[in-house]
Amino acid sequence: MQNMWAPWRMEYILSKKENNGCVFCLNSFNPELTEEDEKRLVVYKGGRVFVMLNRYPYAAGHLMVIPFRHCMDITELSEEERNELMEIISLSCKAIRRVCRPDGINMGINLGKAAGAGIADHLHAHLVPRWEGDSQFIAVVADVRLIPERLETMQKTFALAFKEIMD
Ligand SMILES: [Zn+2]
Repeated sequence: MQNMWAPWRMEYILSKKENNGCVFCLNSFNPELTEEDEKRLVVYKGGRVFVMLNRYPYAAGHLMVIPFRHCMDITELSEEERNELMEIISLSCKAIRRVCRPDGINMGINLGKAAGAGIADHLHAHLVPRWEGDSQFIAVVADVRLIPERLETMQKTFALAFKEIMD
């Protein structure tokens, strides 16, 4: 599979400014989403793992499931973190189905730059909604960034979907 994130990777890396310079490290672990979380497109926070929209998505509704703790490899996670990662991946699939009504979902984790990880030093799982016959469509739109307003709306929609699923 070609690397869909390559065109924007440098811009993404250069725009990071949070605490240790990692775009996936949060400043607040409170389950309540802060204004900063919303700006960063975080849609759900669990106890050890959170979910954010990909700002440079492969498709609309492309989520990333990320441990709070800054570590690069799945083998570095504690048992609790690994379990919660899987739990929240499953929860995120529910949210994607609720919001995007896809025909399928791609799930994947790239470990290391050689495997295609754009941000290799903080583990993250990708969830990409897919629709029947979308492969050509995605090849075209993969080069087009979603407008910021669209991402803001998606953030609100997904945050609400997670809330509803948890109720
Ligand atoms: Zn980090």
